[in-house]
Amino acid sequence: MSDTIFALSTAPARSGVAVIRISGNSAEDLLLRVFRSKHPMKNREMTLGTLVSPDGRALDRCLAVVFRGSASYTGEPSAELHLHGSPAVISAALDALGRAGGRPAAAGEFTRRAFLNGKLDLAEAEAVGELIAAETREAAENAAAMLSGALGRMLKPAYDAIIDLCANLAAEVDYPDDDIEPLTAPRALDTLFHVEHLLENTLDRSDRARAFTEGVRTAIVGAPNAGKSTLFNAILGERRAIVTDTPGTTRDLLRERATLGGVPLLLTDTAGLRDAENEAERIGVQLAREEAAAAELVLLVLDGSREPTPDDCAAPENLSTAAHTVVILNKSDLGVNPKAREVAPDFLHVELSATSGDLSPLEQAVRSLYDAGGLRFDGTLLTNARQRAACSSALDSVRSAIDALRSGLPTDLALTDAERAASRIGELFGRGAAEDVIDRVFANFCVGK
Ligand code: GDP
Repeated sequence: MSDTIFALSTAPARSGVAVIRISGNSAEDLLLRVFRSKHPMKNREMTLGTLVSPDGRALDRCLAVVFRGSASYTGEPSAELHLHGSPAVISAALDALGRAGGRPAAAGEFTRRAFLNGKLDLAEAEAVGELIAAETREAAENAAAMLSGALGRMLKPAYDAIIDLCANLAAEVDYPDDDIEPLTAPRALDTLFHVEHLLENTLDRSDRARAFTEGVRTAIVGAPNAGKSTLFNAILGERRAIVTDTPGTTRDLLRERATLGGVPLLLTDTAGLRDAENEAERIGVQLAREEAAAAELVLLVLDGSREPTPDDCAAPENLSTAAHTVVILNKSDLGVNPKAREVAPDFLHVELSATSGDLSPLEQAVRSLYDAGGLRFDGTLLTNARQRAACSSALDSVRSAIDALRSGLPTDLALTDAERAASRIGELFGRGAAEDVIDRVFANFCVGK
């Protein structure tokens, strides 16, 4: 018998409505100790009533609902209180529930109970957290689809095929002389090749999708006065960074989320890359270098209307580690100096005027670097390190099993690899995942989920 837990599930802030969740065998009893209504409560129907303190004072006029039996989010009797979202009312309600015998829920405890009661598999539980944390439309779309079991549906046939294969291999190992139909290597290999392809494809799609689900870490760098802050503001569509004619005005890093050519960016405006004239600027330049080194995409801005300076020419040296770099010859409204076109010739160049606000050449360039072509955010993309690690280790084991079968090694070697692959694939969607893996998943949740 589980004890009865409760927690605020909406944000702890002043709001129109606040929802407190209650779950456990005595959920309805607990609710009825703090909530009075004129009519008896019906299963899954909102009832209007009064929230009362332990000494019978009315605290709020509010709604409540009960979910009897196992037809609830957590898979056990549950209830919800829908209060007015006043911090005073919320804290009085939580206090009343505690005094009435409930226990404040731990982080992620509702979803953990849903998992333990078989309402969600592990990937679906993670999808709950990811849906709430999603920062891009694509991430939300994928998490929502994963929440309804898309990853499990894709992997389950592969999991079952490998389990069958293991059973056959095990029979061959255990009863070599029996009349068991031998699992010929070609048939086993067919299964393994099929699973190998599925896992490779899943990892590859997930990698390509990361730009869209997490956002591309992007740094705007370049010499002072090239127009970095103007470009930053133009991408955001608002005035965020200060634009002046005085070189060296941006010293702190400014970070914002933005979308460019349909690609979500985690955008940082940096100080100009040059020999700094004072301490504050020197730190700014150092931060800019570090940011450029850590970025996946660097937008190197030059004043393309004039001859490149030594600062302009030196800038590419800071960028060698970024996955992609786009050289932007800015101020094209003042004409483009042919020498500017020769800076960093190995990188993609675009010519534009940040003050004009027309960023279409840059949008096209970014779109060409991060191609969503064919990617579907259908809940079968791996979205966290746990899933990626399980998938690539499953892939390693499948490949070892293939090698073992191909080189005619004893069957038990292939069997060990195939079993390991099955267990890692199962773990991906929560079958037989070790307790510490489960603990880690729910440790990332906050209270109320
Ligand atoms: P930063 O130091 O690289 O951040 O450069 P700013 O964005 O502060 O811009 C420096 C100066 O260049 C400002 O006076 C801007 O108005 C001007 N500027 C920026 N972009 C353009 C452009 O596309 N065309 C023209 N003509 N001036 C620009």
